[in-house]
Amino acid sequence: MNILSISNLIKTYPNGVKAIHNISLEIGNGMFGLLGPNGAGKSSLMKTIAGLQKADDGEILFNGEDVLKNPLSIKRHLGFLPQDFGVYPKVSARDLLNHLAILKGITSKNERKVQINELLNRVNLYNQRNREVHTFSGGMKQRFGVAQALLGNPKIIIVDEPTAGLDPEERNRLNLLLSEISINRIVILSTHLVEDVKNLCAQMAIIKNGMLLCMGAPSELMRGI
Ligand code: ADP
Ligand code: ADP
Repeated sequence: MNILSISNLIKTYPNGVKAIHNISLEIGNGMFGLLGPNGAGKSSLMKTIAGLQKADDGEILFNGEDVLKNPLSIKRHLGFLPQDFGVYPKVSARDLLNHLAILKGITSKNERKVQINELLNRVNLYNQRNREVHTFSGGMKQRFGVAQALLGNPKIIIVDEPTAGLDPEERNRLNLLLSEISINRIVILSTHLVEDVKNLCAQMAIIKNGMLLCMGAPSELMRGI
């Protein structure tokens, strides 16, 4: 079991915006929904958890290690599925995963090959391995993103609005995949879509204006919504 424990976290940007206002959360394996409107502080919280920016106060422990004091301790264990990758280089899906695996520090060529084939099968893109990713449909790109996030078998995966712009079938497929990969790791789903959190997450938090409004099981928090 992995445990991410956040205590009394505070982050104020130099312009005076209080993006995170005394947030405490405890997150275990499974899919955790972070729900809030635009500007709520979701990205700020994700970036701080990922060790990409400093907090002003508070503590983040991942399996007992202090993330704020030693950001590398979490970077090793973290995968990220962004909303949009921007521009893809003109290489095949398999070659792109290989480059990303090298950047992740997977030095053994054979280990990369085994892992990449396994991941391409897992996200159902093995037959598309020689295609360039920019030619993929939106759903295929997101599934490729899941494969990329899983490189190195991270213990935490952060997912930012993954189903934006997908049709219902692609959305279901991606959601199923995210559920599968959350069985033995923490997956944090940052979204403003109540429905995805309701359907996918065992635990959730609602944040607004940098503050934690509530935390618990979606069935308890969203009765009647
Ligand atoms: P969300 O991801 O929920 O949309 P953000 O964490 O991006 O929310 O933003 C929370 C608040 O912090 C917003 O008011 C936003 O304008 C502000 N903010 C975000 N990033 C910065 C930054 N780098 N500098 C100053 N203000 C920021
Ligand atoms: P999904 O798995 O997301 O449903 P598919 O693998 O069925 O997507 O393919 C999506 C699109 O890519 C379809 O229009 C399909 O015809 C096209 N396609 C599939 N395989 C190839 C290929 N090897 N080369 C070029 N286009 C392909």
